[in-house]
Amino acid sequence: MSGFAFDLTATDGAARTGIISTPRGQIRTPAFMPVGTAATVKAMLPGSVRETGADILLGNTYHLMLRPGAERIARLGGLHRFMNWDGPILTDSGGFQVMSLAGLRKLTEAGVTFASHIDGSRHLLSPETSMEIQRLLGSDIVMAFDECPALPATEDAVAASMRLSMRWAQRSRDAFGDRPGHALFGIMQGGVSPDLRAESAAALTAIGFDGYAIGGLAVGEGQEAMLGVLDYAPGLLPQDKPRYLMGVGKPDDIVGAVQRGVDMMDCVLPSRSGRTGQAWTRRGQVNLRNARHADDPRPLDKDCGCPACRGYSRAYLHHVVRAGEMIAGMLLTWHNLHYYQQLMAGLRAAIAAGRLGDFADDFHALRAEGDIAPI
Ligand SMILES: [Zn+2]
Repeated sequence: MSGFAFDLTATDGAARTGIISTPRGQIRTPAFMPVGTAATVKAMLPGSVRETGADILLGNTYHLMLRPGAERIARLGGLHRFMNWDGPILTDSGGFQVMSLAGLRKLTEAGVTFASHIDGSRHLLSPETSMEIQRLLGSDIVMAFDECPALPATEDAVAASMRLSMRWAQRSRDAFGDRPGHALFGIMQGGVSPDLRAESAAALTAIGFDGYAIGGLAVGEGQEAMLGVLDYAPGLLPQDKPRYLMGVGKPDDIVGAVQRGVDMMDCVLPSRSGRTGQAWTRRGQVNLRNARHADDPRPLDKDCGCPACRGYSRAYLHHVVRAGEMIAGMLLTWHNLHYYQQLMAGLRAAIAAGRLGDFADDFHALRAEGDIAPI
C-alpha cells in the first residue's frame, strides 16, 4: 500500500511503540482514538481534540449512513471536510452497532437487513455496502464488516459466527479493492477460545490486511477474561502490522492491553463520562457532582495542563455540573481526553525507554492512593 505504513520504533516485552503513516498525517502508537460518532466528538471542537494530543478520530458507519447519509457527506466533500478534521479518520464497519442499536434485524449469509433506530427505514449492511459507505465517507482506515455474537453464547455459536465473519472478511477485502493511501483492517473473532482465535488469525492473515483488530472483547466479559485473551491473541497476528483493540476502555484496561502488544484503542468513555460529571485522573475516577467539592478551591489535578485544571476550581466544576451548564461537559470532556492522551504519551515514552514495567507500577500505585483528601 503506498501512502500507508507502520514502523515499529521500540518494543518492551510484548509492548510496542511506533508510527502509522497516512497521507493525512502520522499516528503515534500506542494510540487512543476519541470517538466522533455523529461526525463530532461531543462538546469538543476538532481543534480542541487535536490540542489534547489525538492523532486520529473514530467515526461510526452505522450512525453516519442513517443520518445525514454517506452519499450526502460524499457530496459535501467527505467526512474530513464535513466535520472540519483534517487528520486521519478510522471508521468502524457498522457491524457491531447494527446488532446493538437497530430494530428488526435479519442476519443472513448476505449481510444484515435492519430498521433504522431513528425513523424505521429499511437498510442492508453487508461487506459490500459497508465498504462502499466507508469509501463515500472518505475514511483513511476502513474496518472489514464482521458479525459479533450476542453474549453469552455457546462455543459452537461463537465458532459459526467467527467463520461467517471470516467469509465476510474475504468479501470485504475483494470489495475494498486497491485504494492507495487507504487501509483496510481485518477483525479477529473467536470469543475466549484460543483455538478459535488462532483459526481466525490464520484466516485473516491468509487474506492479508493492512492492520488487524481484535474484536469481540470489551462486550461485558470482564477485565480478567479480556486480558486473558490478550495474553495470547496479539501474538497470533503479524508483527509488522498495527493491532487494534476495539472499544477499550478504562485507563487500567488500556495499560493492560498495551503491555500485551496492542497498538490502537478507542472508547466513548472519556467523552461520555465528561458529560455526566465524571473525571478520569491519575488518581482514578472523580465524581464532580459530589458535595465534597462544593467549597474546594483546588484544581481537579494540579499537575494537569488542560483548560479545566488550569483555569477552574473543583468548586466551579461542581457548580456547573450541578447546574447542568454546557460548560461542564465541555471542560470535563477536555480534561478526560487530555488525561487519556497524556497516558498514551507516557506509555509511548516508557516503551521507548524500556521502562514500561516501572511506568505501570507507578500508574497503579497512584490510583491505589485514590483522590486527594477533602479540604
Ligand atoms: Zn485537567
